[in-house]
Order: sequence, then C-alpha cells, then structure tokens
Amino acid sequence: MYSNKKYKASNNSSIKDLLNSDMYKSLFDYNCDAIWAINLDGMILKINDAAKSMFKMKENQYLHTAINLWIEIDDETLFFDCLSSSKPHMFKGKLDTEELYITLEMTSIPIIIDSEIIGRFIQMKDRTIETREVDHMRSENAYWESFMNHSTDAIGLFDLDGNIIKLNRATEDIFLYSREELLGNKVITIPDESYRDEVEFLQRKVKSGKSVVEYETIRKRKDGKLIDVAITYSPLYDFEGNMIAMANILRDITERKNAENELRDREAKYRLIAENTADLIRVLDLNNTITYTSPSHTWMLGRDTDKYQYGDGFQFVHPLDHHHLNALYEEMLTTKQPLNIEFREQHASGEWIPLEARCMPVLDQNHNVTSVVMVIRDLSERKNTEELLRNSDKLAIIGQLAASIAHEIRNPLTSLKGFLQFFYSNGDELSRNYYELMLSEVERINLIVSEFLLLAKPQSSNFKETEINELFNHLLALVDSQAIMENVELSLEIDEEIPKIYGDSNQLKQVFLNYIKNAIEACSTGGQIDISVSTKLDMVEIKIKDNGSGIKEDHLNKIGTPFFTTKEKGTGLGLMISERIISNHKGTVRFESKEGLGTTVTIHIPYQKKA
Ligand code: ADP
Ligand code: MG
Repeated sequence: MYSNKKYKASNNSSIKDLLNSDMYKSLFDYNCDAIWAINLDGMILKINDAAKSMFKMKENQYLHTAINLWIEIDDETLFFDCLSSSKPHMFKGKLDTEELYITLEMTSIPIIIDSEIIGRFIQMKDRTIETREVDHMRSENAYWESFMNHSTDAIGLFDLDGNIIKLNRATEDIFLYSREELLGNKVITIPDESYRDEVEFLQRKVKSGKSVVEYETIRKRKDGKLIDVAITYSPLYDFEGNMIAMANILRDITERKNAENELRDREAKYRLIAENTADLIRVLDLNNTITYTSPSHTWMLGRDTDKYQYGDGFQFVHPLDHHHLNALYEEMLTTKQPLNIEFREQHASGEWIPLEARCMPVLDQNHNVTSVVMVIRDLSERKNTEELLRNSDKLAIIGQLAASIAHEIRNPLTSLKGFLQFFYSNGDELSRNYYELMLSEVERINLIVSEFLLLAKPQSSNFKETEINELFNHLLALVDSQAIMENVELSLEIDEEIPKIYGDSNQLKQVFLNYIKNAIEACSTGGQIDISVSTKLDMVEIKIKDNGSGIKEDHLNKIGTPFFTTKEKGTGLGLMISERIISNHKGTVRFESKEGLGTTVTIHIPYQKKA
C-alpha cells in the first residue's frame, strides 16, 4: 500500500469545518455522485450519502483509513503524486470486495482554503456497465478476428456497392492473391466477365435482405486454375437495423466435386450395365426392401419397375418358396458369401416364372453387410427345353400313330380321286363344277393326311427346281373355299420373274398352307389376308399378312414350340413342322404381331442364282 510521506499532516479539522459549513454540506451530501473527502495523506475524512449507498459502507468503517485500502487505483503512484496538485485529475480504479465489483471513474479535485491545498474531493462515477460492454466488445471482436483468420473458408466483407472491405487469411490460400490485391475492388476472381452478372445477381439478392446459401459456381485463382466453390452470402446490419455490409463465406469444393464426378461416372457405367442387361437386377436393403429394380423387369415379369421399388422383396415370390428363400438369405447374411437361389415369382399375367438368382452381399469398410445385389435369370427357357425333351417322347408316339393312320386313309383316297377325275372328264357343265369341288376337297384331305405324315418323319424329300408362282396359284385354289366360308378376303401379289427355288414343292405347299390357314383362323368375318411374293437379295421373300387377332406379346416366343396352341381344336404342331421344313430349305421365318391388329409372317428362302 502506498502512502505519501512528502506532505505534512494536513489540517484535518479545517476540512471538516469546511464540510460542516451549510453551503458545502448540501453540495457534498446531496450530490448524486459518490464523493470522498481525503487529506493530503490519502486518509478518508468524510463520505457522502451517495458513496455510502454505492459502496454499501457503514458510517465508521472507512474513517481515517487510507483511500487505497478500499479502492484499487489504476495508477496509484500518480494519484498520490497529484494529491497536492492545484488542478483536477482523472483516474480509473475499481472496488473489488466479496460482495461488490465496481469499476470507477474518479475525478480528484483539490480542496483549497486560503490559497492552500489542504485535501481533495474524490468524485466517483460507476462505470461498471460501460466497461463491461467495451471489454465485451473488445473480446468479441477478438473472437471474430480469430475465427475469421483461422477459418479455412475464404471470408470477406463487401460494402453495399460490392467493394471488398475486409478479407481473412484463407482468401489468400484459396485464390493465391494477396489481400492487398483484392481489397477495395469488386470481385476479380471470376473466370471471365460473363460471371459478373452472377456476382451482381447474388449481391442484389443479399441487398434485398435475403441470404444466399451454398451457391455452387466456379471461380478463378491468380494462377488461372478454375476451382469449384460454394458461396454463402448474407446481409449485415448495424444496431439500428440498417444494412451496412454483406458478408461472404466461400468454400473451395473442387475436391468434393471431383469425387462426386468420379462417383457419378462410375455409377453411370454400372447403371448402363444394369439398365441394359437382359437379366433382372435388384438391390435390397437389410429390411428386404427393394431399392433398385432394372428395367428388364418390365418385359420379363410384366410390371413396371415402380411396382417393385420400395416394395417387399418377397412381394411376388411363390408362397411355397418363402421358407427356403428366407433360410438361404439368412445364411448369406451370416457367411457374407454370395450364393445361388432358385425360386418362383408371379408374372403380371398370373403365371409363375421359375427364376434363378445369384445373391451377393455388399460389404462396407467394416465388413458389415449394407445391401444385397441380386442378378436373376429366367429359367423358363431351360425348363421349357426340359419339357420339350419330355414332349419329344409324346411326339414320337403321336408321329407313329399319325403315320399309320395317314397311310390307311391315303389308299382309299387314291381310288376316290381316280373315280372323281373320271366322272369329271365325262360330266356335263353343271356336274363338272361339283366334281371339281369334290376333287379339291379330296385334295385337302390328302394334305391334312400329309401333315400328319410329316410328323412321323420328314418325308423322303423330293428336292427339285420349283416354280413359286405355280405353287401359289395351286395353293390359293386349295384355301379359297375355306376363305369364302369364313368370309375372309385373300389377295395374292406375285412379282414377275421370281426365280425358281430348289426345294420340295409338296413340303413347301404344306408350309404356306399352314401359315395361310393360321391367318384365316385368326381373322374374324371381314378379315383381309395379303400374300406377297418378291425377291430380296438372293432370297425369295414371302409375306403373309393378316389383320386378325394378333399374338400376345408373351406368346410370341412360344410360337413354333410343339403343342403350343390357343385354339380349342388346334394341334399346336403346324408351325413347328413348317419351321422344320423351312430350315431344311435353309430359309428363315419371322413373326411380327400386335395383339388386336394382326400378324405378318415373313419367310425367306434362298434361290440359286443362275451362273
Ligand atoms: P394350331 O394352328 O393348331 O393352333 P400352329 O402351330 O399352327 O397350331 O399355331 C400355334 C399357335 O400360334 C396358334 O394356336 C395361334 O395361337 C398362333 N398363331 C399362329 N399363326 C397366327 C396368326 N396368323 N395369327 C394369330 N395367331 C397365330
Ligand atoms: Mg395351325
């Protein structure tokens, strides 16, 4: 504690006298500032009421104690040095006790009696709140300053004209410009002037009081390199709510963007595979919910992919397959090894489709299963072949039966035909017509029988040069009557000079007859069948087009398989036999059909070019 010994003990009683005089008493006692009267040694002689209440002191606690016992004066030495000064002086100090903490602004005023300084009034103002605010502001500013300079994002302040008024250190790291180069200017880190509009657009938005959040765009560094950035802009207001500046936080997201692009590229590639494969691809999460379905579902199972999306993985699975599917699924999740599963799923048409799935667990870095990818194949084809093999036994028996029956029918037919021809040549005009009809009907029976015979074994073929024109004219005569009966119109268009083909005319007739008969059967009353024969490259092209019922899309691939028929009295053998004959002639058949619109059968048979 400091005590000034330079001065003689003052005349304490004269100060007290002064203070007791009425004039001073009222000024001293009723002053709203706290005032202490001290002598030149700093001893407290009197305290006014305001001081008592401010410091919560009792009357006698303070008297004749040194002022610096109570108050910590910022510059104590100077304070005591100035005690005998004739001028007032300002000091700062604080009172810091268990109950109180007061920051003080003190004015030390000399008490002069008879031109002699005998003591001082210390007038004190409570500045606690103001000091706190300044301190607070100072520390707050320091926080912000530190935050700004340690942020790895570029932070800038713009005035309302768009000029940069403050920048943090990271701005230099991101853009390679020094702050001096940027400060006071408008944004110069844009790739080219066309981006000026964008900057102005963003600033206009901010000036209208809105914020811009994580706006992604491109900026240019000093070395010319372009970087991807995300910008957040917001208005800054003063205490009265006036906008004074715009704050801008800019993050370099080049790396993130590159990673994103790479991921997108990779995903696009996988997606391309998934979207174009003929297999079914599904991704399931661990709750057995489908999160991805490849487009192949649409045509393989007859439902749009959104029927599967986020649906249960077992939704269309045959109820009897749930159990073993579940068991294998569990096994895969525990072993984390891929495995194959066979099960049945219902096609939209109601049919059960046999499927084989390769299930692969997808693992994360911690080797936990996150999802399951299923690549599923339609087994119908394979099952069909198995069925076909089983059917071929049936086919053989039917064939043998057919062969013997056909043989038995053919013999009587031959004599019937002979007699009819005899009557025909001797008959009159009217009966000739009937004989003609009977003859053609006999011919039909013959053909049907031949169809049966073909089942047994391909007849010993009789390949020779064959006129297609002649063949078709003959054919039409055969089917005309049926067409008339069914009220179907037949038209034939044959190019001139169709080259001869090398083939078995009876077998070929059989083929075309099958197709034309099918066409007639597909047509309801009023149908139209157009047959055209032309040449395409080194092929004869025969088109048989009808406007009948057409073929259901999911039936198209069954066409030509044995016993596939949609007719009550059909055999489902015609197309199979026809295809076999055509392939014996090194030709091909193609079906195009739209349900409800009609069918076109296109047959190509090669002809031998003349040398
Ligand atoms: P079938 O005529 O005895 O039924 P096919 O082998 O000749 O046997 O024909 C098999 C099936 O193919 C038919 O039942 C029919 O459903 C379909 N089909 C063949 N040709 C046509 C066509 N032109 N229009 C519509 N469906 C056809
Ligand atoms: Mg048929």
